[in-house]
Amino acid sequence: MSDGASPQRQGKVGADKAGGYVETRLSAGVLASNLEYLHRCPICHGDDLRHYVRVPSLFNEGEFIRYERCRDCRTVIRNPRLPPEYRLARYEEPEMPPEAKQLNAKSQVHYAYMMRQVERLLPEGCGRRLFDFGCGAGGFLVEAKKVGFEVMGLELSKDLAQHVEQVHGIPVFQGLVDDPSFADETFDVIISSQVFEHLLDPRGTLEEVKTHLRRPGLLLIEVPNLYDIRERLHKGRMMDDSHLFYFTARSLARMVREQGFEILKVQEGLRPYRFLRNADQTPAPGLMELGASLLSLCQIKTGLTLFARWR
Ligand SMILES: [Zn+2]
Repeated sequence: MSDGASPQRQGKVGADKAGGYVETRLSAGVLASNLEYLHRCPICHGDDLRHYVRVPSLFNEGEFIRYERCRDCRTVIRNPRLPPEYRLARYEEPEMPPEAKQLNAKSQVHYAYMMRQVERLLPEGCGRRLFDFGCGAGGFLVEAKKVGFEVMGLELSKDLAQHVEQVHGIPVFQGLVDDPSFADETFDVIISSQVFEHLLDPRGTLEEVKTHLRRPGLLLIEVPNLYDIRERLHKGRMMDDSHLFYFTARSLARMVREQGFEILKVQEGLRPYRFLRNADQTPAPGLMELGASLLSLCQIKTGLTLFARWR
């Protein structure tokens, strides 16, 4: 997902540069006075937010994005941020480029690997109806379907939702999870990959998502991880404007636990497929696990993956 502004929305930047900093005036063409500043951490409600880093925007040249870190739960938060109405429109309407719809062979290896872990952790008596919250191009759902789950996705982007239905024959609800017409759908397994870091209110959304999970059920959440050696060596290196949150293993677990889940495990650095030379030669699960452990030892920890049980 990207946070890039449409060309007509991009403001004229540079005219009033004060000391070269543009963020006081504009962010993606939105006047600074219209940006939303959070006074409390949306994850733990702590009010001690400290400057973390200020980085050039990836999407809007000449602009800067600021992140703060909550002293209590250590979550890094984009602050200030664009107001909600801008963000939703960005995800819902635009037509996606063809590459955003193609399944990436290496990512598929990762999803298949994740599905093996899901199978292993399924609570006894758990059914096989699976929901992908924020399914994107449907890669995760394709792998879940292959191993016998009855699958459904939810996607805000109209273009992607249609694409997944038409190309992969997988039902996708287009819209927000609190939409009344989605209220009656329930599942045994809920997965969500690289979505929670984009949400305006991850806590509130998780509470809503939870209402769709049957007991006993399983939850899998994947988010990016800031506690990577590259970020430690160069603060801001891992930042992406479209990410509003960078959880830590503890803050993610805490948020999920506080919703009544039992945390099964939180893994760091689990994307060894990135280093595969050829995605067709999928390594054995044991090798993938070894690769993940080695990367973790080297402090290369690009991801956080949490598994939790609901009973
Ligand atoms: Zn916090």
